[in-house]
Amino acid sequence: MDYEKYYEPLKAVHSTDFNRCIYCGCEASCSDYIPPINFIHDWRDASREADFISVPSCTECRDLLKKQNIGSLDLRIDALKGLLADKYEKAIRVFNHWSDEEIQEMDASFQRSLKGGSNLGKEVITRVRFAGFDYEVNGSITRVAKPEKRLFKVFEHEFNSFKEALEFACLTYQIKKSKLSQLYFESGESFEKAIENFHYTMKLQELENEIKQPCQKFAKQYKQNSDFVLRTVMKYMTEDEELEVNIALAKLGQRYVKGFKAVV
Ligand SMILES: [Zn+2]
Repeated sequence: MDYEKYYEPLKAVHSTDFNRCIYCGCEASCSDYIPPINFIHDWRDASREADFISVPSCTECRDLLKKQNIGSLDLRIDALKGLLADKYEKAIRVFNHWSDEEIQEMDASFQRSLKGGSNLGKEVITRVRFAGFDYEVNGSITRVAKPEKRLFKVFEHEFNSFKEALEFACLTYQIKKSKLSQLYFESGESFEKAIENFHYTMKLQELENEIKQPCQKFAKQYKQNSDFVLRTVMKYMTEDEELEVNIALAKLGQRYVKGFKAVV
């Protein structure tokens, strides 16, 4: 059956956008039907609202969206951006984490694959960020707002791309790129919080190391479980911030170790 007749074509308003994929800005070579034709009965029988438009699309975007039973353009655009970013996650990571100079230092075959990944990642980021274009459906025109330029802040410094911000932050604060980028996403996409979290964890680790050694020595000497000793000492020390590790150990000894004599 010819279902295509139920769909109103969406057309670009400006000639520069003719033949452009509405999802990613690449050259369009087919149409994406909203809602997809294979799901059309879900939308015609139920009283759910769908756009019933056909939009210019590249084959990759159309194929990525094939199984998505989504009936409106805006939600389909959101879904596509997520699917595209997932599909090329590795390439995006290579682009963000590797500078040209770092790639140059690698051996020839690794260089080639890194360069390929990095170029692909760069291209995908442009497609994911593509904001669409002004379009017309059945005589009514929809203007698409120009996207606000996204700025990435590292304290008082501002950057146009995640890659540049990451590079700056890693050099300035001496943190590995993969570590900082992981913390960035775990900290609600904030470099400031990520850097603070990093330093906080480092401090905690340093503190733990300072405490660990005497605890292990104590556990060995008095035949105690070293996890128990460390945990209890940490507990004493958080309850009383002035408490030093040897005093905390003496407190533990008096309480739990038979025949313990404090040597402080
Ligand atoms: Zn596309």
